Amino acid sequence: MPQTLLALNWKMNKTPSEATAWANDLKASLQLGEAEVAIMAPAIDLQALSWFLKDTGVQIGGQDVSQHESGAYTGEISAGMLKDVGAKYAVVGHSERREYHAESSQIVAAKARAALNAGLIPIICVGEGLEVRERGEHVSYTLDQLRDSLAGITIASAEQLVIAYEPVWAIGTGKTATAADAEELAAAIRSALSGLLGEVGAGVQVLYGGSVKGGNIREICGQPNVNGALVGGASLEVQGVLDMVNALK
Ligand code: 13P
Repeated sequence: MPQTLLALNWKMNKTPSEATAWANDLKASLQLGEAEVAIMAPAIDLQALSWFLKDTGVQIGGQDVSQHESGAYTGEISAGMLKDVGAKYAVVGHSERREYHAESSQIVAAKARAALNAGLIPIICVGEGLEVRERGEHVSYTLDQLRDSLAGITIASAEQLVIAYEPVWAIGTGKTATAADAEELAAAIRSALSGLLGEVGAGVQVLYGGSVKGGNIREICGQPNVNGALVGGASLEVQGVLDMVNALK
């Protein structure tokens, strides 16, 4: 299994100047341990981050990517553009994109394929809302979303995939799924991946996201099927990131 991945999702926070100051602070105090750190920043911050974090081992990625390669798609950012600026990853299908931008799993799959075609690693997000969880249908709902979000992805490209399980009710709410909840879904996702993509699928990195911070990351990432975390709020302050990196050492 690859290194634990600590993927930081800044969402719509930090101007390029703020991102630059943050990167310089991080550089001054970060000693990478076991985990790989990758920042999913607003697209407009990526050039600065790429420059200020070069030679640190910290990776960067987009928070979304167009399903199209190029052309008349005003406002969109292509996978090739992200790659050119030095990105390694692109998040696709975050619940906020699914909800506020009406992105279906079919669109998410097309975005994941576009990322793979450009040599980026898509971090495909799946996860249920509160009502689904309360009905006890969280496993089947999430696995359906996973299958649909992987449409057209071949075994050959699956080596370059990351899946993030983010229960919507745990995002930004302070309500963390228990480590057992995270493991239940991570194990179900891994078994579904293995059914869909064979041995390669079983080796895909599965992350958990939702109110992760320094105080809980070790227990969550210590679960057998959880290979890292996708973190929002706790990624905004450098100290929050240092706490998580240290907790994983
Ligand atoms: P929080 O860590 O703020 O709950 O956000 C999780 C998330 O949505 C990461 O993509």
